[in-house]
Amino acid sequence: MMDQVSGGQARFSMPLLGWYELNRRDLPWRRSRNPYHIWVSEVMLQQTRVDTVIPYYHRFIDRFPTIEALSEAEEDELLKLWEGLGYYSRARNLQTAVREVREQYGSRVPDDPASFGSLKGVGPYTAGAVLSIAYNKPEPAVDGNVLRVLSRFFLIEDDIMKSGTRKRMEQIARELIPDGRAGDFNQALMELGAIVCTPKSPNCTGCPVAEHCEGRQAGKQAVLPVKTKAKPPRPESRAALFIAGTGEREGQFLIRQRPAEGLLARMWELPHLELSAEAVKASTGAEEDGAQLELERVGRLFAAEQGLAVAELSPSLRAEHVFSHIRWDMQVYTGRLRSVELPGPEYRWISSDELDTYPFPNIFVRILGELQ
Ligand code: SF4
Repeated sequence: MMDQVSGGQARFSMPLLGWYELNRRDLPWRRSRNPYHIWVSEVMLQQTRVDTVIPYYHRFIDRFPTIEALSEAEEDELLKLWEGLGYYSRARNLQTAVREVREQYGSRVPDDPASFGSLKGVGPYTAGAVLSIAYNKPEPAVDGNVLRVLSRFFLIEDDIMKSGTRKRMEQIARELIPDGRAGDFNQALMELGAIVCTPKSPNCTGCPVAEHCEGRQAGKQAVLPVKTKAKPPRPESRAALFIAGTGEREGQFLIRQRPAEGLLARMWELPHLELSAEAVKASTGAEEDGAQLELERVGRLFAAEQGLAVAELSPSLRAEHVFSHIRWDMQVYTGRLRSVELPGPEYRWISSDELDTYPFPNIFVRILGELQ
């Protein structure tokens, strides 16, 4: 490994830093020296594009400018500000971690890797990014961008999905950090991956480290990094209900809160359930009475599985959402409730004016946007 990176600072790090000084994007979190703000930005940027993050970051920091403010936030408000960013456990973990910082470290983000890395939701990447950018600590910050750049530059053909490869890359990245320049170097490396050494078409002719790039010299920049394919998400057919209120509930509709654990924990949604493969098969018949049978079947399923007795069901729009491991293919039905009693405390009638106070997963934001 040492052989591979020997001279790496001269061949790679120094030209990269020179390029970064001239080409760095002016991003809002780069104007801040506040470790908490940098931490928020790094959590938001995981799995999410810079352009998407910018407005979320501004709203979040405006509302929760300090560790104290985020510590005291109601979870619904926190999730509402995160609505649309996905991976909501990031927001919950951030709040848990920030509360610990307040209690254990007097609201000062710890600057040593062991303490910061032990906080909830803080993995090696986040720890390296925050400690290097906020405190200039010589810690590597290796994300997908960095894995790609290093694989190409050093012609490393090991599978980057393997933890051994990732560890090795972290060692390489650590060796490459120039003295006293950890924050700039890590940001420069991420920036190169984001705007030059991009996944599909790396711009080698405009790259500041092209001269010594072994991947480019071997003509392998387009096939690196080596990455085993993740399993495609499992398709799941679901039926959702948009139940409009009647009588004193006129103008309202029914929502419910998800369980405290698991996917999209404690977020709000329209009632929905998974349709079995048989139900889907039976409902795709072209006959006219097939459609009626489908509605009856859906009604029976909601009554049996969720205690919701519904009437006057009618198919409305369809929506899809892809998570990392499953894909929801959702058919929405409109209808009304036969009984005034709700099956549990997790259900609630709300009006569209109240949508602003309940955090919904993206798929329901889209559905409700179309139905309202
Ligand atoms: S020369 Fe090409 S492959 Fe090598 S680091 Fe630069 S953009 Fe990536």
